[in-house]
Amino acid sequence: MAEAKQFNKTTVTLVRGDITRQEADAIVNAANSALRGGGGVDGAIHRAGGPSIMEECVQIRKMDGGCLPGNAVITGGGKLKCQYVIHAVGPVYRDGRVDEAKILANAYQSSLVLANSYELHSIAFPSIGTGAYGYPLEEAAGIALDTVQKFCQTDTTLGDVRFVLFDQFSYNAFVEKLASMS
Ligand code: ADP
Repeated sequence: MAEAKQFNKTTVTLVRGDITRQEADAIVNAANSALRGGGGVDGAIHRAGGPSIMEECVQIRKMDGGCLPGNAVITGGGKLKCQYVIHAVGPVYRDGRVDEAKILANAYQSSLVLANSYELHSIAFPSIGTGAYGYPLEEAAGIALDTVQKFCQTDTTLGDVRFVLFDQFSYNAFVEKLASMS
């Protein structure tokens, strides 16, 4: 299953699947601030990518103390079929009143800016924040796609932006939002 739409010079594609199997210049991890790995997509990426990714995360933690919510850092892709993993930190969703929307948008934006600064062509995102961190799915899909659409109006090296949705509910929410966009 796949859906796609063109935003300026960038094709945005929605696929249902496992992000650790994607071939792309970079895949994005829904990381935590400590960059310590964990469950969900984070655990899956570290398992599939091997120990070198965590070794780089440890170095980043030593130098910078980790990664604040809304920010992103980059490591190599280890054994994955991508050159880089971009570790983006979303908000822990509380009640929608503590800047969660802004932080989620910033997590996508920071990842896109980082990918662009490495002159990457393709990037694959999971649905950041909507698993263990509890962000309501429909709203999160809107924020994700709006942020990408806005970014595509800038002059970017990214021609291929993918969302890899693990389950049917997430896929459907992104499809519905993308269909409503022009
Ligand atoms: P967060 O802590 O940011 O909420 P999670 O990893 O708990 O991150 O969940 C984010 C989304 O990633 C969820 O929709 C979850 O189902 C999904 N997910 C989990 N494993 C994978 C995977 N291997 N590929 C793509 N998405 C995944």
